[in-house]
Amino acid sequence: MRTVPSSLRRGPGLDVAVVGGGMVGAAAALALSRAGFRTALLEARPPLPWQAGDDVDLRVVGLAPSSIALLRDLDVWTSIRDARACPYSHMHVWDAGNGAAIDFDAADEGRDLLGYIVENNLVQWTLWQSLEAAGVRRLCPATVKDYELRSDRVMLELADGESLAVRLLVAADGAGSPLRARAGIATRGRDYAQRAVVAHVATERAHAHTAWQRFLPTGPLALLPLADGRSSVVWSLPEAQARRVQALDDQAFLDELGIASDFRLGRITSTTPRAAFPLKLQLADAYQAERFVLLGDAAHTVHPLAGQGVNLGLRDVAELRDTLVQAHEQGRDIAASHVLRRYARRRRSADTLDAYGFDALARIYGWQAQPLVAARGVGVHVIDRLTPLKRRIAAHAAGS
Ligand SMILES: Cc1cc2nc3c(=O)[nH]c(=O)nc-3n(C[C@H](O)[C@H](O)[C@H](O)COP(=O)(O)OP(=O)(O)OC[C@H]3O[C@@H](n4cnc5c(N)ncnc54)[C@H](O)[C@@H]3O)c2cc1C
Repeated sequence: MRTVPSSLRRGPGLDVAVVGGGMVGAAAALALSRAGFRTALLEARPPLPWQAGDDVDLRVVGLAPSSIALLRDLDVWTSIRDARACPYSHMHVWDAGNGAAIDFDAADEGRDLLGYIVENNLVQWTLWQSLEAAGVRRLCPATVKDYELRSDRVMLELADGESLAVRLLVAADGAGSPLRARAGIATRGRDYAQRAVVAHVATERAHAHTAWQRFLPTGPLALLPLADGRSSVVWSLPEAQARRVQALDDQAFLDELGIASDFRLGRITSTTPRAAFPLKLQLADAYQAERFVLLGDAAHTVHPLAGQGVNLGLRDVAELRDTLVQAHEQGRDIAASHVLRRYARRRRSADTLDAYGFDALARIYGWQAQPLVAARGVGVHVIDRLTPLKRRIAAHAAGS
């Protein structure tokens, strides 16, 4: 990783303020500070400490190799992996409408594994533990109320009346991003009118380190392997059905989930309480404004069917770090428009392709008319046998 020698840093004050300390913002603050930029991280809510004795956080993500590479680069990956992460080396996706299935196997891609399933708050907490030693100025709880542009800096106004001057403002403040709205950046996309019901369940059969996903007429159902042998359920359903499923008593939920998963892991034998998250496709019209960039869910929110949301966000982080380091090496202002445009152009075009690709998948799997369902089955069958195409899909998901 290239860094900016401290002797080259100019002037007093901060280079970058990252607003939002979720997985993406915390990774951005750590990456930028490690690269040599004087960085502050502002977060409204203190992160919940992760403790080995606690039950597995209901929110988990599938981390792709590109994300693992970044976390390794930031020296946090080994702690995350050793704390509680479940490697998976297979993915089996099948269609309730026509029985067509597609399999991805790490060995076919010349890898040991396809990724790891990890708890969101373990990733966030581990990153936070490294911030202080890396020299990140942490302000938490701190809410950015507003900001004002000056010719050479941005003045942040915090809710407690404090202010902060920085050269570049990085907004990683989530899908509802107040800073994106303040920067006048609109979004486009669509509300899926679906919710993902999540829970951790025990199953009769072992998960076999496989990510299972069944496409049902109501939406995809994923069973993701957890390190303790259970599986994490992400069950996307139309709003009303999601509410109904959430309200079922445990036994009725286990029975319905067994049927929905086609008993692929046998009977579902126990469950944690459930939670549900609304799903939408949202893409910011621009990733950059004057002395301002967007990262993570503040820039893009995608359907969880491909398990890529945070992976895209962490690719934003790596690109921003590399762009700013290169600008600095070339003696440019890290917040100059052409520098930020370069980051924005690269990431927005990559994220747009992915976001609309996942959206197309959601639409195709939403087809219910029998001829279309049959055509979908033929398509999946062909892809499963077209090794070069399958390889390209797997490599893309891995972030290579
Ligand atoms: C059901 C479900 C399953 C998913 N599965 C996967 C998966 O398998 N793989 C994957 O890659 N992704 C997955 N995702 C997506 C992933 O969870 C998100 O992309 C990721 O959590 C976004 O992280 P973030 O840091 O960008 O945003 P957030 O986690 O939303 O963090 C934003 C932070 O900003 C703070 N904030 C907001 N406003 C302010 C302010 N004004 N001042 C200070 N702080 C502020 C908030 O408190 C918050 O901590 C899934 C999502 C869902 C809903």
